[in-house]
Amino acid sequence: AIETTEKIWHNGNLIPWEKAQIHVMSHVVHYGSSIFEGLRTYGQGDTAGIFRLPEHMQRFLDSAKIYRMPIDYTLDQLCDAVLQVVEANGVAPCYIRPIAFRGYGEVGVNPLRSPMEIYIINYPWGKYVPGNAGADVCVSSWNRLAPNTMPSLAKAGGNYMNSQLIRMEAEVNGYSEGIALDVNGYLSEGSGENLFLVRGGVLYTTPLANSVLSGITRASILTLAKELNIPVVEQTLPREMLYISDEAFFTGTAVEVTHLRSVDRILIGDGNMGPITKLLHDEFFALVNGKKADRHNWLTPVKVK
Ligand code: PMP
Repeated sequence: AIETTEKIWHNGNLIPWEKAQIHVMSHVVHYGSSIFEGLRTYGQGDTAGIFRLPEHMQRFLDSAKIYRMPIDYTLDQLCDAVLQVVEANGVAPCYIRPIAFRGYGEVGVNPLRSPMEIYIINYPWGKYVPGNAGADVCVSSWNRLAPNTMPSLAKAGGNYMNSQLIRMEAEVNGYSEGIALDVNGYLSEGSGENLFLVRGGVLYTTPLANSVLSGITRASILTLAKELNIPVVEQTLPREMLYISDEAFFTGTAVEVTHLRSVDRILIGDGNMGPITKLLHDEFFALVNGKKADRHNWLTPVKVK
């Protein structure tokens, strides 16, 4: 169960948490017609900041555009709305979930005549304690979305049916996460994380064309790697690169930077967080936790009581 807050932003107004309800005949319930975001705040009280707020809300607008969803708010207005609800609820650290969907209108598949509903919800999210042990993951028997079926660059509700299959299969088989291959058998991403590998001092990640989400954490790690003079290659990667990599890690809003201890029970390196992963992990946390100056303006300050 999630901890509730007082207010939820809905189509421009703050409404009580328990009033944020929809009808069962809403289009989204039947056809998965939603797009959404997930953001995190770092710090507390006076020092709280939202990680990469404009980038997340731009991706929100991009996802809506792909699905022909009209959003009556500009990027600035959406960012302000996020600040408004976080400040109203006064909760940090928190997770923030903006969501837009096709509501209660017509019953058919065509969403164009169902009204848009936009909500922004935030709720407390305690400090996630990264398992320094690393994650034991598998390669999924499920593929990621094939090109020209479901657009992977949209962070859309329906895409997460595929993520659920990957995640459930992993859990049932005793792994903490699954890595999906794309439809051509090349590495793609986890059910909710981007994938990085290190081999011979080079950092590899799968390109957007291999059915991955354009992760904001992924982009941040690529920026940090360039600054740290770590050679970076974005290219299509064969599955077996996983097994012979010196280091491997996931990135994402939820997992932040989490190293992989094993894949399909094959140990990655010696199973511990490798040196290049550690360099990037430590730099990432130094920035978000305010140990180093926020040189990229990645944190938008938010006033939380
Ligand atoms: N891939 C998928 C499928 C995801 O759901 C997420 C989480 N949003 C990511 C990658 C990581 O993206 P981000 O770093 O923006 O959270």
